[in-house]
Amino acid sequence: MKVTLNNIGKKYESREDFTLRNINLEIEDKDFCVILGPSGCGKTTLLRMIAGLNSITEGDLLFGEKRVNKLASKDRDIAMVFQSYALYPHMTVYDNMAFSLSMRKERKNVINERVMEAAKLLQIENYLYSKPSDISGGQRQRVALGRAIVRKPSVFLMDEPLSNLDAKLREHMRIELVRIHKALGTTSIYVTHDQVEAMTMATKIVLMNDGKIQQVGKPYEFYERPQNMFVAKFIGSPTINTIKGKMEGKKFVSEDGMISVTPSEKDLKALANHVGKDVYLGIRSERFVSGEAEECFEGTVDVIEVLGKEKTLFVKLKSGKDIVITVPGYYAYEVGEKHTFGFDLDALHFFDAETEERIN
Ligand code: ATP
Repeated sequence: MKVTLNNIGKKYESREDFTLRNINLEIEDKDFCVILGPSGCGKTTLLRMIAGLNSITEGDLLFGEKRVNKLASKDRDIAMVFQSYALYPHMTVYDNMAFSLSMRKERKNVINERVMEAAKLLQIENYLYSKPSDISGGQRQRVALGRAIVRKPSVFLMDEPLSNLDAKLREHMRIELVRIHKALGTTSIYVTHDQVEAMTMATKIVLMNDGKIQQVGKPYEFYERPQNMFVAKFIGSPTINTIKGKMEGKKFVSEDGMISVTPSEKDLKALANHVGKDVYLGIRSERFVSGEAEECFEGTVDVIEVLGKEKTLFVKLKSGKDIVITVPGYYAYEVGEKHTFGFDLDALHFFDAETEERIN
């Protein structure tokens, strides 16, 4: 089912300002749409409006072609999975999953078929007759998912469903969720503040900040072509390096005058209107290259973080500015060493210093 948000806004009565405004979004049938953003940006508010748990102050919410602003939550053909699994403790896993169908007075054989089908998909067949207290957190989360799946909703809504799990289990469940989504093809809307969840699971990411959508698109677009400084800094770990400076003719010169870079021809074209203006240059930590390069930075290795697969180098440039560089884990570097770091000219991001919008 396609979900469309036209100019959606939300103002809580107790608040003076709108919490969300001008939210325009098309979530296609079968999309796995991840709403991503820092705490307090309005993700849950938006999801709850789609669920019918929060009223919509302005705009139109469409399920397919139908406006559902005033439709009660129970009539929206949705299923929600929350951070807290809220299973009934006195019921078995089977009964927890069967509950909503029993309430709908579904036939016994249909209920059994649906529960067994979901149990197989979620690989929880072996503990269908255990109580929630006798299974692990990860297993409980699967039961919560199972309870949503048996209803065969048109839209799945999930609010940080993995945040109570440990890191290993989260990684595992991410893969499981992608597999389940592939198998069922149900339109899913998933709220998280975790960029890794968004990058690994989403077919479409909606990145929000301060009640506004910052960028909508495919995961790689967020990394390769962030539309503004907020997106560039929110996505990617370590955080992208940014240097403030000015376009002086064909050169980017940093504020302190210590760094000068000649961008590629393609970037220079995009920067033509910014000559004489303040801009930010952005470069991701892994886009530095060892050895000689056309353009390079010189600096001293200040701190090294060893992560196994890679090393993160915190490098102090002559000006005192710190930059972060990632190199393969087997490269040998020592704290205090002076190095020249080249970088890939095709990997530069430029942002207008005033609007913070992408230029190139
Ligand atoms: P988190 O990741 O911390 O859950 P979020 O991005 O989901 O954050 P929301 O919970 O949607 O953000 O909250 C957005 C803003 O709306 C916050 O400033 C919050 O205080 C406010 N807010 C949320 N619920 C209510 C409410 N019932 N009444 C008034 N203000 C609210």
